[in-house]
Amino acid sequence: MNATELAAAVRSGERSAVEVVEEHLSRIDAREGELHAFNLVMADDARAAAAQIDAAVARGEDPGPLAGVPVALKDNMCTRGLPTTCSSKILDGWKPPYDATVVTRLRDAGAVFVGKTNLDEFAMGSSTENSAFGPTRNPHDPSRVPGGSSGGSAAAVAADFAALSLGSDTGGSIRQPAALCGVVGVKPTYGAVSRYGLIAFASSLDQIGPFATTVADAALALEVIWGHDPLDSTSIGSVPSAIESPLAVLDRGVEGLRVGIVDEITLAEGIAPEVRAAVEAAGLALESAGASVEHVSVPSAEYGLSAYYLIAPAEASSNLARYDGVRYGLRVDGETVEQMNAATRDCGFGAEVKRRIMLGTYALSTGYYDAYYGTAQRVRTLIIRDFERAYERFDVLLGATSPTVAFELGARTADPLAMYLSDVCTVPSNLSGDPAMSVPFGADAAGLPIGVQVLAPALQEATMFRVAAAIEAAKGSAS
Ligand code: GLN
Repeated sequence: MNATELAAAVRSGERSAVEVVEEHLSRIDAREGELHAFNLVMADDARAAAAQIDAAVARGEDPGPLAGVPVALKDNMCTRGLPTTCSSKILDGWKPPYDATVVTRLRDAGAVFVGKTNLDEFAMGSSTENSAFGPTRNPHDPSRVPGGSSGGSAAAVAADFAALSLGSDTGGSIRQPAALCGVVGVKPTYGAVSRYGLIAFASSLDQIGPFATTVADAALALEVIWGHDPLDSTSIGSVPSAIESPLAVLDRGVEGLRVGIVDEITLAEGIAPEVRAAVEAAGLALESAGASVEHVSVPSAEYGLSAYYLIAPAEASSNLARYDGVRYGLRVDGETVEQMNAATRDCGFGAEVKRRIMLGTYALSTGYYDAYYGTAQRVRTLIIRDFERAYERFDVLLGATSPTVAFELGARTADPLAMYLSDVCTVPSNLSGDPAMSVPFGADAAGLPIGVQVLAPALQEATMFRVAAAIEAAKGSAS
């Protein structure tokens, strides 16, 4: 059963939330040892929360739109009194004194949290191999990665450990693992979902969004978590009051919509032929459903990756300065305060996090600032303008999510650039702030899932979801 069905069954009393959560916990028992989707399984808390939902139903109350739905949270979202690690040794022993806004909203909607999921340390990576606690494996083929950085959240939904999960997407960390694990993953418009309680990586790019097995479930989850939050200064005031509900328009079809297939994220070198073919096939499916489909160029998207790998590390170097052995988690003692700071950071951060901090510090340093950070910001402006121009002619855009299907564990760990190239199709939407999502569409010859990416202008999630629903429906009728 998917999240929509589970919530309906629990609300009507047809199924108990306790029974639903036990079912998911037993699947976790059976396969978690092999997959390692979680940093923490919250079995007892989940059982207690489910019992409360059942008691509410028995009293005739409505426990909310996600009543009894098992949900997994990426372990970079704060949960009060429970370890929140970012899959880093540096947060060892730290328990946040507050809940992230998304956690509060999900709980108020009746969700039952089953655990905190594994990620690349501080969300830096594309394979979940950068976790200090060991990698997560892909449920479709455990010799392969689930993608990253939200690999644990994607794997948890793909393995049916949870009906829904949350990830964070700074450069593709929801969409790319969704594609590799064969599930739906959504990066909302920047500012649509509160970042309060999300441990910061690159604050101008970070967004929280859902993973689900269906487009409708993803819309349901998004409408629970989004909306203005005074605790996040970048939160948009008009969400959701002034924007259309994706759930309400899902079955409206795509008749008359103008769809552009973006050359730079479909045809570029390095994008596998079967991935290109899936994007073209999704375009044809939309055409037969009544949309008009054409190719379009968003020229500066080609420079997205270079700009991203200056801006994201620059912001990270500043955000991660707070882990100094004084306020959070790990402390490694030294003779002087400076030595304590240095020893703590040397021991607490993994190699990729250190690489990002050094890249970012360099890009921001006097004498290099304008050449690196300044240029990257100007490229960001060009990307925003190019997207705006494309959206004068098209309602939505289409492209690949990931250049390839899931790769073998270890295949890209020795070469950071090869790993960074995994993000080439996803980073442009983070730089522009626009929403984008990945929908499963077909598989390669070995049966590994392929995701197609749907992109839309800021706050046009409703149109994006309509198109995603049509792609999902076409996949159903083809198979
Ligand atoms: N893979 C990208 C990176 O390593 C994106 C990460 C993310 O979106 N959190 O930076």
